[in-house]
Amino acid sequence: KNVKKYFPIKKGVFLKTVGHVKALESIDLDLYENETVGIVGESGCGKSTLGRVITKIHDATEGSIIYHDKNGVKKDIVGKLNKKENMIYRSDLQMVFQNPFDSLDPRMTIGDIISEPLQIHKMFKTKEEETNYVKDLLKKVGLYEEYISRYPHEFSGGQRQRIAVARAIALKPRVIICDEPTSALDVSVQSQVINLLKDIQKESSIAYLFISHNLDIVYHVSDKIVVMYLGHVVEEAKSEDLFENTKHPYTKILMSSMPGWNPKERKLSKVEVKGEPPSPINPPSGCPFHPRCPNRMDICSKQKPLLKGDDHKVACHLYNK
Ligand code: SF4
Ligand code: MG
Repeated sequence: KNVKKYFPIKKGVFLKTVGHVKALESIDLDLYENETVGIVGESGCGKSTLGRVITKIHDATEGSIIYHDKNGVKKDIVGKLNKKENMIYRSDLQMVFQNPFDSLDPRMTIGDIISEPLQIHKMFKTKEEETNYVKDLLKKVGLYEEYISRYPHEFSGGQRQRIAVARAIALKPRVIICDEPTSALDVSVQSQVINLLKDIQKESSIAYLFISHNLDIVYHVSDKIVVMYLGHVVEEAKSEDLFENTKHPYTKILMSSMPGWNPKERKLSKVEVKGEPPSPINPPSGCPFHPRCPNRMDICSKQKPLLKGDDHKVACHLYNK
C-alpha cells in the first residue's frame, strides 16, 4: 500500500545528498495465492525495484507491504523484522533473476547451490535426507539427479534457469518474484521455463510476480497485468481485459510495438512513442507520461491522474473526469 522507493544521489567528499531517483511512487498492489501478476513496462520504470522491495533486498522508503503468513498472521515487512519474522519471510518469498549465467556461483556444485538455503533454514537433520531432497528437486525441474555434483558452467542457459528455479522452490515458498526469468534465454527454451513455472503453481498454489518488458510473455503467464511507467502504476486489469479493452495511452503504445499481436488492430493503433522516458530524478509534473502522450490535454501537465476503477484500473485524465 502506497509504496515508495527513493534512492538518494550522493556527491562530493562528504557524500551530500543532492537529489533522489524516484524509482517507485505510491504503488498499490495485491497478490493472492495461486495467482500470477505480471508487471510490465520499459526498462527503468521501476519494475525490478518493486520486486526487490517486496523481497526486502531494498527497504521501501514509505508505505507498507503486508504479508499474510501460512497461519494467517499479518505483518508489515517494511522496516526492521525480528529474527523469527525474518526467517519466515525470507523462506516464504524467493526470487528468480534474469541472468542464469550470473545468478549461480560458478565455484559451487549444483547440489551445494540448491542446499545452501536448506542449511541456512535447517530444513534437514541428516546430509542423506538433504541430498535425497535435492535430487527430487532436480527431477521436479526436469533435470537428472546425477547433475547434483556438476558445476554451473556445464549447463546451458535453460538448464541453469531450471537450477535457479529448483533453488527458489527448495524452501517451499509461497511467493516467487520472477524478474525477467526468460529474457536471457533462447525463444525455444523460454516456453519450457514458463511451463515449468506453471506446473509448479498447479502443484503448490504459489503466487508469482512476473516481471518482464515483454508484454507477449506476460500475457501468456499472468492472471492480472500491471503496467508501470516511471515508477507509477498506470493501468491494471485481468489479462484478457487489458488486451481487449486497453485504456491507457501508454499501454496502447506498448501493445502496438508488440510483434505478432493482433496485426489487424495493430495497424489501426500504430502510434510511435516519442523520445526516451524522462528521468526519474526530475520526473515531469502532472501525469508522468504527458511529455510523450499523443492524447495530452491541458490538465495533464498540471494534475497527476489517480489510479481509479474497480476491476480495470487506469490512471489517466481521459477516463477520470
Ligand atoms: Fe495522456 Fe493525459 Fe492520460 Fe497522461 S493523463 S496518459 S498525458 S491523456
Ligand atoms: Mg529490470
